[in-house]
Amino acid sequence: MSYDLESSLAGSVGEEVIAVIDAPTGAPPANLSFVRRFLKKPLGVASLIYLVAISVLCALASFIAPYGALEQDLLNTTAGPSSAHWLGTDALGRDILSRMLFGGQITLLGVLVTIVTIVVVSIPVGLAAGYLGGSVDRWVGNVTDLLLSVPNIIIVLAVTAIFLENLYAAMITFGILGSAGVIRVIRSAVLSVREELYVAAARTAGVREWRIVVRHVLPRVAGPIIVQASIWGGIALGVETGLSFLGVGVAAPAPSWGGAIYDASQLVYQDAFMLVPTGGVVFFTILAFAFLGDAVRDATFEGWSAGARQNAMRRRRWGRRPLTTDTPSLSQDGGTDLVDPQPEVVGRDAVLTVSHLSVTFESFDRAIKVVDDVSFTLHAGEVLGIVGESGSGKSVTALSILGILPPALKVSAGSIVMDGVDLKGLSEKQMAAHRGTDIAIVFQEPMSCLDPSFTVGSQVAEVVRRHEGLSRRAAKSRVIELFEQVRLPGATMVAKRFPHELSGGMAQRVCIALALAGRPKILVADEPTTALDVTVQSEILGLLRTLQAETGMSILLVTHDWGVVADLCDRAVVMYAGYIVEQATVEQLFLRPNHPYTRGLQLCNPALVGEAEKLPSIPGSVPAPHNWPSGCRFFDRCSFATAECATTEVRLSRGDDDRLVRCLHWRDVVALSTERTS
Ligand code: ADP
Ligand code: MG
Repeated sequence: MSYDLESSLAGSVGEEVIAVIDAPTGAPPANLSFVRRFLKKPLGVASLIYLVAISVLCALASFIAPYGALEQDLLNTTAGPSSAHWLGTDALGRDILSRMLFGGQITLLGVLVTIVTIVVVSIPVGLAAGYLGGSVDRWVGNVTDLLLSVPNIIIVLAVTAIFLENLYAAMITFGILGSAGVIRVIRSAVLSVREELYVAAARTAGVREWRIVVRHVLPRVAGPIIVQASIWGGIALGVETGLSFLGVGVAAPAPSWGGAIYDASQLVYQDAFMLVPTGGVVFFTILAFAFLGDAVRDATFEGWSAGARQNAMRRRRWGRRPLTTDTPSLSQDGGTDLVDPQPEVVGRDAVLTVSHLSVTFESFDRAIKVVDDVSFTLHAGEVLGIVGESGSGKSVTALSILGILPPALKVSAGSIVMDGVDLKGLSEKQMAAHRGTDIAIVFQEPMSCLDPSFTVGSQVAEVVRRHEGLSRRAAKSRVIELFEQVRLPGATMVAKRFPHELSGGMAQRVCIALALAGRPKILVADEPTTALDVTVQSEILGLLRTLQAETGMSILLVTHDWGVVADLCDRAVVMYAGYIVEQATVEQLFLRPNHPYTRGLQLCNPALVGEAEKLPSIPGSVPAPHNWPSGCRFFDRCSFATAECATTEVRLSRGDDDRLVRCLHWRDVVALSTERTS
């Protein structure tokens, strides 16, 4: 970051520059070009044509078959191919071609029954397990384990014994048993989609859960579902043929493909040719199902790697961050601080009051605090910064306000009060009503907040319609209005683009438009410029400043960048190792930092260091939550530390100018700053 700190302090990082549209990155949208990608796979296309053709021919058997299925000609048995009987005749002189066509009706219908059973059972169950998680997921897991452990074919044979020669009962049973594996495939596909930031973004924008599943999750798992359906089509055909071969599926003399193979096998020494058309059809049909599945899978993955590659790369970091578990149970009971950490700002109402907020990571028998007793107030029209190095607990604090913590984390203490309501105590449904309209969020990586399969216009329109109940047409014009509000050039054109066709800066503007759709009172921005190029960063900061002035909303800005704090914030909370170490106005923080950490961070700011100078850094790194020392958590990195710091649990107290600071030696720090400025 190359900020000129003084001009930043004066709030003039430069004129707002409207983003120049980057050249689109080229790849066509994932869903539209799926067909095109599939058509490039000759084997897949040939298989599809074959399957469609054979199904149609069998369906039309009554019209096109030269003979009846049971029509015998005992004078012309086991004859080879001839003009009268293209595929020859069987032991009873029945026309093999006609029997294969009629038999295909029953056989392929049996396969269809299995596929439909699998789809009907596994899609809702797999979606529920993956999306809802928790006990639903556990129960589904147990049942699928059970189904996978029983030998399918034995169960199916038992069913045929009960429902005598009822092929469809057998195929439905087989479908239910087969669903177990497919449920797992869908569940894991949903799990990875659920982690995508655009799903979290849709949720925070207030989109209903079932709509998120239908619109954002289902399309992304459609590929694996088709692949599975195709694989199971082949397996079902094999099983079905086997059952009829054994005589427990379709009973003779009714025609079936398995029955035809059985007949051929009985005459293998008299008329070996009979096995060729009968076995051949089954062989090629199973092969076609397999090739079709392969082609669909390839076309799907190619789509992901083109359109959604960026998305996968930009998946949210916190969702995947591992946490070391060899930790003692909650030993960091810091108690609460000595002072009331809610400074009054004269003439401004509080819109959000976070009091003594603690967030814990819970695993098995352990609970580890990751955010510890954090309190601050956000006032009307104020921009409040949360600053600190990576791992300080800034994002977790921000996410807990919106009630969108990752599943492993829980708010374990404190309150988050907005308009007299404690958001912490709300149910998911009640909280959903606040998201988007009262509080909205903009994340660090704009591309991952947008679903790669839809145009950005339609995504914003979805949220607009949800919030304002507008007609499609009215929603469209509101989208354009929002895009103009976030200064997107050519708003109408941009609305028709897919996320990967936008530059990072434009995508972030779209995300801001998405957040503004519900006219929120508070905008939480978690490192909104970190993933962007330097020039674009200042444009987005400028935009946030303009929007704040235009709408009067309050902004909670999470950042590790002092340039951003200087540029945008009125006050800031400095966080270190899960707790607040200093809280003051930006001017106070810059002119006379009280905490050695604040001072250290500022000295490391590239804006304060000359070009040729080596950039200083604070030695060491933020301790992980399970390693927080019992004394001052900054102790081992601090040049002001004394023996007392290692043993005393330091509380927040009043520092210079009545600000809040968590340091025993803040006066020494102030003295040093005063020396420097004088
Ligand atoms: P910051 O935003 O300041 O970089 P975070 O708020 O993301 O930091 O993380 C604070 C702490 O919470 C980290 O030490 C991290 O280990 C822990 N944490 C974050 N996300 C998770 C998670 N999903 N599961 C467990 N711990 C997490
Ligand atoms: Mg963060």
